[in-house]
Amino acid sequence: MAAVPDKIQTWQMVQPWSKDRETGKVTEGRIEKTDIPVPELKAGEVLVEVAGCGVCHTDLGFFFDGVPTVSKPPLTLGHEISGVVVAGDEKWIGKEVIIPAVMPCRQCYLCKIGRGNRCLFQKMPGNSIGIYGGNSSHIPVPSVDLCEVKDRGKFPLSHLAVIADAMTTPYQAAKRADLQPGDNVIVIGATGGVGVHMVQTVKALGAANVIGIARNPEKLKRALNYGADFVISSVDKTPRDVRNEFRGLCKENGIEAGYGWKIFEVTGTKPGQDIALELLSFIGKLIVVGFGLAKNEYSISRLMAFDAEIIGTWGCLPEYYPIVLGMVLSGKLELEAFVETKPMSQINQIYDQVHKAGSPAKRIVLTPDF
Ligand SMILES: [Zn+2]
Ligand SMILES: [Zn+2]
Repeated sequence: MAAVPDKIQTWQMVQPWSKDRETGKVTEGRIEKTDIPVPELKAGEVLVEVAGCGVCHTDLGFFFDGVPTVSKPPLTLGHEISGVVVAGDEKWIGKEVIIPAVMPCRQCYLCKIGRGNRCLFQKMPGNSIGIYGGNSSHIPVPSVDLCEVKDRGKFPLSHLAVIADAMTTPYQAAKRADLQPGDNVIVIGATGGVGVHMVQTVKALGAANVIGIARNPEKLKRALNYGADFVISSVDKTPRDVRNEFRGLCKENGIEAGYGWKIFEVTGTKPGQDIALELLSFIGKLIVVGFGLAKNEYSISRLMAFDAEIIGTWGCLPEYYPIVLGMVLSGKLELEAFVETKPMSQINQIYDQVHKAGSPAKRIVLTPDF
């Protein structure tokens, strides 16, 4: 069994990139290797030896784009974590676990009414659990929300880190949308790190027709193998063009285009959101899964005329983690085609690359190599 370490080794965000508003002077961000003391574990806490930590756009937002973390730097980023419990709460020791990306307080009103995924007191590794994050050898976390991994078969534990955000966020979004078997679904941003799982999650939950919209032609082709029935490229098209193509595609295939579509917007970009708003129609639902700072122009009276809804979704309840893990282990959701591991020591190059190039074809999981 893994031993309790003397120190936690970690790639710490010493300072994020920043730009002075007045002078325009850019301060370069720094992520550096260091070690920090192992904290004394409180009751109900465990120390997890990290097997893998996924690289998420939220991390890049913190490091490159001025999105503030709750705990001020220096802190360690990373919230898509799998690993093995090595200390703390006796009954967890030795168990393989996935750490939920957001852990609700379980005390407040929102938690009590089942909305704990948006608990205002929630803790997130790499953001609001003190200075601790997943880009480390170890991390202290509460044990109550851990998702135990049993019988993972051929799956490396490190790969299962992706469940901690990229694969559970879509499940929560589907729940939020009240997705039912037979529903028709559009996923905008169908080829990104979360979008690929959004597509296959709705299909696995019984969606009738799933249309993926995105920009990358190879990745759009791949989506057809993993849950999408049809794909539309949005390259060089106005929202109106995309809507016309959508209608044509429905007509050709004998699908009702005019009402009832549930639209998941995963890009968080203005072009993606504009397409989503254009496609929203009678008794439709638009579920906002992606985050960005864009503003859109939209006549909200259309919602009245359409009897339609626009709703947001955030994180995922820890209760859903075992369900998603089960769907992965039973093959209902494909994981291996969408994940690759890299040594954690390459974190600086990898953050740079992913930030510049956008979503890689496969989610990168960093594995500790201190
Ligand atoms: Zn994330
Ligand atoms: Zn709460």
